[in-house]
Amino acid sequence: MSTPADQPELELDAIVIGAGFSGMYMLKRLRDELGLKTRLFEAGDGVGGTWYWNRYPGARCDSESFYYCYSFSEELLQEWEWSSKYPEQPEILKYLNHVADRFDLRSDIQLNSRVNSAKFNETTNRWHIVTAAGERVSAQFLISAVGCLSTANVPDIDGLDDFKGDWYHTGQWPHEGVDFSGKRVGLIGTGSTGIQATPVIAAEADQLTIFQRTANFSVPARNAPLTADRQEQIKGTYDDIWRAAKAGHGGFPYIPSDRSALSYSEDERNAIYEDIWQEGGFKFLWGSFSDIMVDEKANDTAADFLRTKIRNTVKDPKTAAMLLPNDHPYGAKRPPIDTNYFETFNRDNVNLVDVKKAPIETITETGLRTADGDYDLDVIVFATGFDAMTGTLLSIDIQGRDGLTLTDKWAEGPKTYLGLQVAGFPNMFTISGPGSPSVLSNMPVSIEQHVEWISDCIESMRGKQQQSIEATTTAESEWVTHVNDIAQMTLFWKANSWYLGANIPGKKRIFMPYAGGIPMYRQRCDEVASNDYEGFTLSA
Ligand code: NAP
Repeated sequence: MSTPADQPELELDAIVIGAGFSGMYMLKRLRDELGLKTRLFEAGDGVGGTWYWNRYPGARCDSESFYYCYSFSEELLQEWEWSSKYPEQPEILKYLNHVADRFDLRSDIQLNSRVNSAKFNETTNRWHIVTAAGERVSAQFLISAVGCLSTANVPDIDGLDDFKGDWYHTGQWPHEGVDFSGKRVGLIGTGSTGIQATPVIAAEADQLTIFQRTANFSVPARNAPLTADRQEQIKGTYDDIWRAAKAGHGGFPYIPSDRSALSYSEDERNAIYEDIWQEGGFKFLWGSFSDIMVDEKANDTAADFLRTKIRNTVKDPKTAAMLLPNDHPYGAKRPPIDTNYFETFNRDNVNLVDVKKAPIETITETGLRTADGDYDLDVIVFATGFDAMTGTLLSIDIQGRDGLTLTDKWAEGPKTYLGLQVAGFPNMFTISGPGSPSVLSNMPVSIEQHVEWISDCIESMRGKQQQSIEATTTAESEWVTHVNDIAQMTLFWKANSWYLGANIPGKKRIFMPYAGGIPMYRQRCDEVASNDYEGFTLSA
């Protein structure tokens, strides 16, 4: 019987990996605007990327729906109706499926096709990939659209194989859902995911025990339906919305604050915090004061305000004390947005366990053992995050020029030029790669900018009959230094976050995203392009 490995290699112009927001738009640009023979390979059996995999209870977007979407098509913007301010995962997945159908993308998306390896041939300037099924495909351009948070981190805890109950990682949630009714559930992790899942699981389970290693700050989302009037108003002002989003530091269509937290009296400051906390969402971080992420004293004022809110919400003082974040500045870990998270600890069926004080020792047949004792559980939920920003790319055997592997190249942390390319890996582009604003921004805005920059670059190359493009090592190392210098000016260094790879044992501690903001970043990318792709070597 013939297998994919027996088939002749398929020859294309471009290969895209990943069918989330980035990959689908990349496919559309390359195929429909540049006329390239392009195929998108996706490991899952559906499109949607993050929104395909993360189906855990309570999963919803932390950015508002009207700007957490594509801006490239006016028709799409006008025809799609978001139901609420912060849509739930099924609605975003439905939107991305609609995009796939509306732009006829499915015919060039190959599902259930994990890319195992990608190797560059210097003689032909082509990339050769092999899928898990053994299928071989080559193309001049290889574009990674694998996402920043797509490789689940299941901590290596002894005894997991012996556990007689069920366990799940939130990023690999079963499509049929999980019935928690009548169950004793243990949830490990209090990042954005754990904080979204906690209230929903608590409402269904018999008992919920949260195993918390680091207490986290969180601001209420204040989700609400989008009324017809609001929809109409949004749809009538989309040009202004996108102009503002592209000019905003984080890709959000709001004017960031320009006032210092330290130039107000405590009462005045707390009144400002209160107003913005009542409004809810990310605005608390970037819309309150301008110095929260750069000045520890300013940050303390926000952190104190949020700690007071926790004390006032959680009735049991012992539980409230355990929930008070005390080891990192507010915002230095990606700030969660919640719906009744702290209120959930007032329920009788919810219990909080501090696993920093009494660490998890082992998983047993019947539950989980910490240094303090045994907890009987029917289900364990790992809301323990991801090997962020590099994990997925490094899980593919990528080899550039001279047999250089990406794993070796990034052994001391990721190195890129503009987060778009890696020296030694010609004709390979990384959408929202490390060294770009990506996870510090409203992702669709950053993704569209990358996709458009890459397709413009390829179009320019084709116009000039150039066969290969590669970042120079000088440009790359200058960019890495710049990314590092900018991060050093912020408080991001003061937390053990996944931004720094600190959540993965043994991972090099390097601040991976670009913290300089979208306007400065876009300007640099545009300058590079208009200076004949300065910092890249282009060859005929
Ligand atoms: P995360 O932020 O990395 O949080 C993981 C949690 O698991 C942390 O509380 C961590 O504790 C804990 N943990 C990890 N290993 C552990 C261990 N061995 N023992 C005990 N606790 C352990 O992951 P996440 O919550 O999945 O969020 C990741 C990112 O996904 C977010 O920051 C956000 O960018 C994105 N996200 C977005 C949305 C949205 O917009 N809708 C929703 C969810 C997630 P420590 O803090 O001590 O490491």
